[in-house]
Amino acid sequence: MSVKIDPLLGLPEIFKEWRDDQYTATVAIENCTKPHFLGDIPVGVGKSLIGVGAHKILKSEKTIYTCGTKQLQDQILRDFAGLAVSLKGKSNYPCAAREDEFPQITADDCSLSSPSACKYYSNCGYYQQREIARNSPLVVLNNAYFLNEANGFYPSFSGNQLLIADEVDALDNALMSFVEFRITTRQLEKYGLIPPYHPEKKESWIEWIPGTVDKLKEKADKVGYNLRFSNFMNWDKNDIEKNRSRKTMEKLAGRLNDLKIGLDYSWVFYSSYSNGVTEWVFKPVNVGSYAKRYLWKHAEFSIGMSGTILDPNIMCKELGIQNCDYMQLPSPFPVKNRPIHYKPVVNLKRSSMSTELPILKNAIEEDLKNYQYKKVLIHTVSYTIRNYLLETLQCKERLVSHESNNREEWLAKFKSSKYPLVMLSPSFDRGVDLREEDNCAAVFICKVPYMSLGDPQVKAKTETPGGWDWYFMKAIQTVMQMTGRHIRSVEQCGDTIIYDQQFEKLLNKTKDIIPYWWKDAIIYHDMNNSKVKIGSMF
Ligand code: SF4
Repeated sequence: MSVKIDPLLGLPEIFKEWRDDQYTATVAIENCTKPHFLGDIPVGVGKSLIGVGAHKILKSEKTIYTCGTKQLQDQILRDFAGLAVSLKGKSNYPCAAREDEFPQITADDCSLSSPSACKYYSNCGYYQQREIARNSPLVVLNNAYFLNEANGFYPSFSGNQLLIADEVDALDNALMSFVEFRITTRQLEKYGLIPPYHPEKKESWIEWIPGTVDKLKEKADKVGYNLRFSNFMNWDKNDIEKNRSRKTMEKLAGRLNDLKIGLDYSWVFYSSYSNGVTEWVFKPVNVGSYAKRYLWKHAEFSIGMSGTILDPNIMCKELGIQNCDYMQLPSPFPVKNRPIHYKPVVNLKRSSMSTELPILKNAIEEDLKNYQYKKVLIHTVSYTIRNYLLETLQCKERLVSHESNNREEWLAKFKSSKYPLVMLSPSFDRGVDLREEDNCAAVFICKVPYMSLGDPQVKAKTETPGGWDWYFMKAIQTVMQMTGRHIRSVEQCGDTIIYDQQFEKLLNKTKDIIPYWWKDAIIYHDMNNSKVKIGSMF
């Protein structure tokens, strides 16, 4: 039985009733006496209404709603127009003084130390929106922007009553990107810096930091001093570039200072080489120990939601949470609408890749015959598999793909096309909503998306207590996310096909944390293609 939404809450009029699970979740949040609440809330339950409803029920005067992507930010704003205010990074807004030059010149190029003194201030998209957001009780930000602003030299968007983290299981990645430090030979050359004498030693970098910070500050000040005598409105391309360089040097100096303070013996340090460029990377093994300082201190109470939290103990450890309530809700989508066909035809390990890829290609080609008039999304997991399939699959006229820098552009083309395209993507596991009108009938998963053990941080983490549980949980989270891209409503139907034999091992490792609503959808196909419901085997 549905419960009417109290009109006094002031939620948008289209939301008249709580669905049962939404109501259960909001009651649990209201009754939570701990500083954190984690909700395993699958797609379709209506996470954003639970989050915004909680903001109203708890009478929060200052709430930050964070999400992983700008697309999700836009979606929340559409659903809660008039209630929520959204703000993105400066580079997303034109500078009102040089509006015609957007996007070549953006508000991020603004060099004014006191923007409110700018004569274009009243039309300045970024600073006006920031003012509105600062005074709004409910602000929607993406994770990266929130972390940067709330922890900046002059912090914004700190001191909240409530922090709502959508896709909380991806928050550790955002936090890691914020905390880790990377530097390349290209950057060093650009800023006229010489690497430490022994760049292969962490200690050598630690000694190198103070002198380098001084040099960077000196160079940035010099550029700033020269630019100070010219008017931003008259800057040419060269001046704009110099100013960008100045800002990057200042940021780099700040990041190096942070690194010096945060870096300890437990951090992993490694280098990689690609296309003539060496990159040195510094990362904490467990980013959870930084969560309190950079995330949780900015709010009195937090709500973390995702359909794939799976193990609250691991999640809490990952996000430095010590005391929380947790609830898990089932998927509202009928199991018959979302079958997951497990066809173990290949064993895609690095050592067997070359012999297995032709078998994978043949299996995909056979299955594509069943979707001649519908779109298909193929999660290739790696660019190696993507490239092989792009070259060898016969239906060339249907194939599309993308690179890391044009992902959104190709996603939009794939969704809007009237043609039954086949998208080959190594990175569409999250942030992709393929709705009924997008006509995508199937998702194929080529390989179990294990994190690379060649990444020293991942390897080091597996060597800590509970590290392998974390490793396998990460992989099954990603598989579950992949299977949900094309089923976004109760009416929508779509198949998933998994080809990699490694999936069985992963199921065994994670069987205790996979929810029943997902297990029940798995159908095992044996060599003779007879089918067995695998969910009942657990
Ligand atoms: S404050 Fe003025 S110069 Fe700065 S971004 Fe806004 S309009 Fe442009």
